Amino acid sequence: MTATMKSFADLGLSAEVLRGLADLGYEEPTPIQEQTISLLLAGRDVIAQAQTGSGKTAAYGIPMIEKVEPLDRRPQGFVLCPTRELAIQVADAIHAIGKHRGLTVAPVYGGQPIERQFRALQRGVHVVVGTPGRIMDHMRRGTISFDAVKFLVLDEADEMLDMGFIEDIEFILEGVPAERQTALFSATIPPRIAALARRYLRDAERITISRNELTVPKITQTYYEVAGRQKLDALGRILDVEDPGSTILFCRTKRDVDELVQALQGRGYSAEAIHGDITQVQRERTLKRFRDGQTDVLVATDVAARGLDIPAVSHVINYDVPDDPDSYVHRIGRTGRAGREGDAITLVAPRELRQLRFIERVIGQRLKPMRVPTLADVGAAAAGVQGVDRQGAERRRAGPLPAAGGRAGRGVRRRGDRGGGDQGGDRRRGDRGGDPEAQRRNDHAMAGDGQGAEAGMARIFLNIGRQDGVRPGDIVGAIANEAGLPGRAIGVIDLFDSYSFVEVPQAEAPRVVATLARTTIRGRQLNAEIAKPR
Ligand code: ADP
Ligand code: MG
Repeated sequence: MTATMKSFADLGLSAEVLRGLADLGYEEPTPIQEQTISLLLAGRDVIAQAQTGSGKTAAYGIPMIEKVEPLDRRPQGFVLCPTRELAIQVADAIHAIGKHRGLTVAPVYGGQPIERQFRALQRGVHVVVGTPGRIMDHMRRGTISFDAVKFLVLDEADEMLDMGFIEDIEFILEGVPAERQTALFSATIPPRIAALARRYLRDAERITISRNELTVPKITQTYYEVAGRQKLDALGRILDVEDPGSTILFCRTKRDVDELVQALQGRGYSAEAIHGDITQVQRERTLKRFRDGQTDVLVATDVAARGLDIPAVSHVINYDVPDDPDSYVHRIGRTGRAGREGDAITLVAPRELRQLRFIERVIGQRLKPMRVPTLADVGAAAAGVQGVDRQGAERRRAGPLPAAGGRAGRGVRRRGDRGGGDQGGDRRRGDRGGDPEAQRRNDHAMAGDGQGAEAGMARIFLNIGRQDGVRPGDIVGAIANEAGLPGRAIGVIDLFDSYSFVEVPQAEAPRVVATLARTTIRGRQLNAEIAKPR
C-alpha cells in the first residue's frame, strides 16, 4: 500500500460513478486504480503493469466512463481484449460501474452472429469491448465506426501478443482517430508490447504495481475441504481453535442463516442472524450488539450484508463457496480493512472445489488449504485459553451437535447424478468422511488444474446467462431435447450474468455444439463453443 491512501471520492469522480462503485461494494481503490485513474482523468496516456486480480478493469473503466459523453451515442470508449470471455466480463463491469450515467456497452466477439452485433451497434453504443478478430471484421464490413473514439484501451496486451493478435491490433489502431487517449494494461510488458506502446501511445506514463501491493494484501485466505454434512462440525472446531474476535459467517440462504444461528447458539456461541426477513428494528439491535462485542458471530446472507455499517472483523468465514468471484471479494473485504490484518476462511465441499478454483483464477490468488482441526487440536487450543474463555470453549465442545440440514436445489450450480441411481448424489460424491489419507490424495489431485472440465467431460461456452432469464433447467432441457442426451449425462452448469458453461461428455461435445447452434433458449439464438482451458 502507498503511504497516503486515497478514496474514490478523493480521485474526483462523479456522483454517478461513485454510486455505481458503491453498488458493486468497491470501498476504496486498489493500488493500480489509485495510481492510474487520476493520470487518465488528466488526459495522459498510460502503460500500466499489474498482475491478475489487481483491479485493472476499473482502473481504465472508471476514467473511460467519466470521459464518455452520454448524449453522443457513437462509440467513444473502445477496449480491445484477447478473449470473448474477457470481452463479456469487461463489458459487464464497465456497464455496472457506468450504470447511473446511462451508458450502453457492447461486447463484440467472434462466434456470436455478426448480424446481432450489427443491430446493437446500429442502435448506438458508448463503449465497445471487443476481440481483435471480430473488430477487424466489422471494420472491413464498415459496420463499426470509430470516428468518435477518444479513449482506447489495450487490455491484457501480453495475452493478445501471445495469441498472435499483434498485427490485427496495429491494423485497428491505424483505423482509430489519432486524436485520442490510449492506455495499455498488461500483467507483463514484453519488448514487442513496449515497442507497440512507443509507436501508438503519446508520452505515456508508466505505472508498475509490484506483487506485494495486491488488492487484499493483509488478508490471510485459507480453505478447508469438508463434506457438506460435516461442515457444521468442522465450523465448530475451527471456531474453537481460531478463537476469533469478531466474525461474520456468510451463507447462501435465509434458511441456512437461521439453521446456523441455532446450531451455533446450541454450541455455546453468541451468534445472531442478519437476513432479509429480519425487521429493521431487530437488525439495528443486532448490529449494535455486534459492534459492542456482545455478539461474536454475525451470520448473514450476501444481500443482507451488503451496505451494512459494520467495523472490520477479525474473521470472515464462508460457510459455502460464493457463486461468483465478486461476492467472494466483497465478503472477505469485511476483514483486513484499512491495512489491518484479517482472516478469510472458506469451507469447501468437494463439489465446490471447482468453483473455488475459478475464484482463485479470477482473483489471481491461491487460497491455502488447511486441515480441519481434530478433537485433540481443539483440546490443545482450549487448554491454552484461560478462565472464562476456556470454560466457553469446553462448553461449546460439550454442546449438542445438530445435524446440518440438507440444502438441495440451489439452482445455479447443478450436477447430474451420473453416479447412477445415486439420489442427490452430488452432495455425497467424493464425500470421504474424515479420512485424512483420502483428503491428502484429493488435495494432491486438486493441486493440478481445477479449471478444466471433469475427466471425460468437455466444457461448453454458451452466450446466454441469467440476464436472459436462463435457468439450469433450460440448458438441460435444450441439450436433452435437441441433442437427445439424457439429463444425467449432463454435468456441471455454471450460470453467469451474460454467459454460462455446461459440461457434457467429451465424445458428445461436437454434436451438442452443432445442435445448440440451431436452438433457441428463452427466445435467444444460441451460440455454443467448446471452451478452451486457459
Ligand atoms: P485484473 O483485470 O487486474 O485481473 P479485475 O479488474 O478483473 O482484475 O478485478 C479483480 C476482482 O477485483 C474483480 O472481482 C473486481 O470486481 C474486484 N475489484 C476491482 N476493484 C475493486 C475495488 N476497488 N474494491 C473491491 N473489489 C474490486
Ligand atoms: Mg483484467
